[in-house]
Amino acid sequence: MTTGSIKVTAENIFPIIKKFLYSDHEIFLRELISNATDATLKLKHLSTLGEIKGDIGTPMIEVKIDKDKKEIRIIDQGIGMTGDEVEKYINQMAFSGAEEFVEKYKDKVEDTGIIGHFGLGFYSSFMVASKVEIFTKSFTKGSKAVRWECDGSPEYTLEETKKKDRGTEIVLHIDDDSLEFLEKSRIEQLLNKYNKFMPIPIKFGTREETLPLPEGAEKDAKREKITVDNIVNNPTPAWTKNPTDLKDEDYKDFYRELYPMQFEDPLFNIHLNVDYPFHLTGILYFPKLHKNLDPTKDKIQLYQNQVFVTDNVEGIVPDFLQMLRGVIDSPDIPLNVSRSYLQADGAVKKIASYITRKVADKLISLFNNDRKSFEEKWNDIKIIIEYGMLSEDKFYEKADKFALYPTVDGNYFTFAELEEKIKPLQTDKDNKLVILYASNEKNQHSYIETAKEKGYEVLLLDSPIISHLMQKIEGSKENIHFARVDADHIDNLINKDETKISKLSDEQLDVLKPLIEEIVPKENYSVQLEALDSSASPFIITQPEFMRRMKEMQASGGGGFMGMGNFPDMYNLVVNTNNELVVEILNTKTKKKQEKLINQAFDLAKLSQGLLQGEALTQFIKRSFEMIK
Ligand code: ADP
Repeated sequence: MTTGSIKVTAENIFPIIKKFLYSDHEIFLRELISNATDATLKLKHLSTLGEIKGDIGTPMIEVKIDKDKKEIRIIDQGIGMTGDEVEKYINQMAFSGAEEFVEKYKDKVEDTGIIGHFGLGFYSSFMVASKVEIFTKSFTKGSKAVRWECDGSPEYTLEETKKKDRGTEIVLHIDDDSLEFLEKSRIEQLLNKYNKFMPIPIKFGTREETLPLPEGAEKDAKREKITVDNIVNNPTPAWTKNPTDLKDEDYKDFYRELYPMQFEDPLFNIHLNVDYPFHLTGILYFPKLHKNLDPTKDKIQLYQNQVFVTDNVEGIVPDFLQMLRGVIDSPDIPLNVSRSYLQADGAVKKIASYITRKVADKLISLFNNDRKSFEEKWNDIKIIIEYGMLSEDKFYEKADKFALYPTVDGNYFTFAELEEKIKPLQTDKDNKLVILYASNEKNQHSYIETAKEKGYEVLLLDSPIISHLMQKIEGSKENIHFARVDADHIDNLINKDETKISKLSDEQLDVLKPLIEEIVPKENYSVQLEALDSSASPFIITQPEFMRRMKEMQASGGGGFMGMGNFPDMYNLVVNTNNELVVEILNTKTKKKQEKLINQAFDLAKLSQGLLQGEALTQFIKRSFEMIK
C-alpha cells in the first residue's frame, strides 16, 4: 500500500468543489457515467483494432444505490486502469484539470452564463461524497487490480486489491447533506435527464417482464414472469442513424421518446448531419404552434457525444428557430464559456448558419415536392418563417422561393406569383404596385368586399410581426407598397388618377365640412371630403397605413420606437360627397335633424370598423329605435 498527497498548488480545492462550485451538484453522476462510457468505448475500439483478444461481450454500465450504507456505485466493464495509470490520470491529470477548473470558476459561483458545467470530471464526485473509492483493473494482460481512496483531503491511499473482472467501480460514500441522491426516484430522474441517449447500455436495478404464452398453452395458463436488467437508456437514438435508414414513423417515434408528454405529432423534421468544417448531428422538428404553447417547455436539447448538456441553445441555434424542437449533438461547441463568448465563437457562428441553411433547404424541398401539403402547413409555420425572414438576411433571400402570401379567398401565392397576378390591375398612377391586405376577415369585411368588387386580390396577413416584414419587403423591393384595405378609400389606396366629378360645388363643400367637424371628435378623426362613386357609403372610417403600422410595430417590439411615447389612434372620416345622404345632410334645414343624420351616419361608419362601444353604442341603439318608430 502506498499513501501520498495529491500535489496542491493553490489552496485545497476540495472544500471549494464541495461547497461553492455548482448549484447543481447533480451533474456528478453525468460526469462519472461519461467517464465509464469513455472507458467502455475505448475498449470496444481496441477490440475492433484486434488489440484485445477474445470476445468482449456487450459491456454495460451499472448504477447501484445502497441506502443503508449510504453508497452509490458506478460500475463499468471498460479498459480499467493499472496502479500507475491511477497515479497518472487520477492523482495528476484529473486533479490538475479539476484544479484549473476551480481556479477559473470559483469566483463565478452563480454564473449561469456558463453552459454545461463540463470540465470538472472525476473530482465532481466530491460535491456529494465525503469519501470516494476506486476499484479498477486494467484490460492489459497480467495487470493487478488496485484500490484508491480519498476522503476529500489531498491525502490518498493506493493499494492492490482483489477484483476479478476488467473495468472500474467507483464507490461514493454519500455525504449527509447529499442524501437525496440515495433516493431511487432522484437517480432515475438524473439518468433520464442526462443519460437517456448515451451510447453504452446503463443498468439501474431490474424489472419484471411478463412473457407471452407459449404456443398451444391452455387458455387460463399463467403467463411466466422473468426478471430482466432495467436498461434506462436508448444507446442508438434516431439522430445517430443514417437518414436513409429511417422512415417517417421512426422520426415520429423518436419525437415521442424525446418528449413523452407531447401528444401531437410534429409537422416535419430536418435531419442534420455534417462532418466538415465541424461535426454535428441532430434532428429538428417543426411543431404545431399553438397560442397557448409554453416556450419554456420541450425545447431543443443540446448533446455532446450523446451526453445531455442543456436545453438552452441560445446563441447556438438562431433565435428564430428557438421554437423548434429536437436534438443537436456536436462536440465542437465550447462548453465552459459564457454565452457572450459563445456567440462570438467562429465555429458556433458556422453552426448557426449551417442550421439556418438546412432549415431553408428543407422548406424549399417541401414546397417543391408537395406544394399542397406545404400550403396546408403554412399557418402553423408562418410565424417562424416570417421571423426568420426578418432576422436573417440569408434566410430572407431563400424564403423568397417558398414564403407564401395567402388571400382571403384561400389561395396561396409566392411573392413572384402575386406580383404577376396583380400587376395589371393593382398598379397605380405612379407605377407603384399596391398589395392590398386584411388582418381580420370579419372586422374588415366591408372593406374587403369593396376591394374585391374592383377585381383586386386581398391578402390575409395576420401574424403579429407582419408589419415589420412588410416594412422590410417594401425596403428591399422597388415600387411595392402594402396597404390594409381599411387604410383609405379603395380609390385612394390604388390611385389611378381618374378624374372624379363632384355633385357638390366648392361653396357647398365649404359649408359641409364644418358641419361634420363640429360633431366628430377632433382628437381622433380628421374629416376628408371625397367625390367617390355615388354607390359607395356616405361615411367611411379609415386608418392611415403609416400611423397604424408604426403603432403595431411599436406594440410588437420593434427597435427605434423607444421613448417616442404611444402613438394615438388616428382615423380619417371619409365623407363621400356624391352620396345622396350627404347631399341630404347638406340640404336639411333644421339643425337638430342635421345633427341626428350626421351622428347616425358616423355611428354606422364606426360600427363597420368595430369602433362603436359603450355609451356611444347605447346612444346609437336608442336613436335607431326612435328613427324606425
Ligand atoms: P476527463 O474524463 O475529462 O479526462 P476526468 O477527471 O473525468 O477527466 O478523468 C481523468 C482520467 O481518468 C480520464 O481521462 C481517464 O483516463 C481516467 N478515468 C476516469 N474514470 C475512468 C474509468 N471509469 N475507467 C477508466 N479510466 C477512467
